[in-house]
Amino acid sequence: MSQPIIYNKFKSVNYDQRKFDISLIIIHFTETKTFNEALNLLTSLERKVSSHYLIDKSGDIFNLVDLDKRAWHAGESMWGNYNDINSRSIGIEIVNSGEVMKEDYTTKQINSLSVLLNSLLKDYNIENILGHSDIAPTRKIDPGVHFPWQKIYQNLGLEWVKDRINDERVKRSDYLVFLKRLKEFGYPYIEMNTSYSKNQLIINAFHRRYLPKLLYKKLTLTSLNKINDLLRNKKKY
Ligand SMILES: [Zn+2]
Repeated sequence: MSQPIIYNKFKSVNYDQRKFDISLIIIHFTETKTFNEALNLLTSLERKVSSHYLIDKSGDIFNLVDLDKRAWHAGESMWGNYNDINSRSIGIEIVNSGEVMKEDYTTKQINSLSVLLNSLLKDYNIENILGHSDIAPTRKIDPGVHFPWQKIYQNLGLEWVKDRINDERVKRSDYLVFLKRLKEFGYPYIEMNTSYSKNQLIINAFHRRYLPKLLYKKLTLTSLNKINDLLRNKKKY
């Protein structure tokens, strides 16, 4: 794969010092119609948010914050035992109106992102590429159900765990196993209490990422199969 072309035309002053080494990459959508709206937000002194990269609909990649600095994109978030995700991650924002607007990512964005990720995986010891919704499932839904995770994995030559369809509804005991497995996999904020309403938001995050067609559907054994297979094959990414 070719080297990414990175533009350094715009910079954000919204950053501070990392406390940990880089081990994660976090993908976001900007939830803006235009590049300029996103850039204004990510460089705004008042809003105090930023990302390392911003990818326009044209596929152009802009570096806003040096990679050795801690950009402010993750907010209150966790993955497994990791907190302070900003200190451990590279944040990539992609210009897109968001899940509700049902706007597809452009082919140029996905191609540029793949080239960028390929280069970052070579340069850093990356343990996982995650969505904002994976690390902050009770607050965030980006990069959304329309983000083509499977296509990205294919572009990077990474294995995508295949679906094992079983439409049988889960029993209560399966549900508890499912929650336990999600937690084991890395999903934060799970409570082993079936009436904890935020568990559903975490399950939604899992579906957005791994079983987008099942988002908002009743839980079936397909989802339990998926998390079991992911844990069985657990490796980087
Ligand atoms: Zn985000």
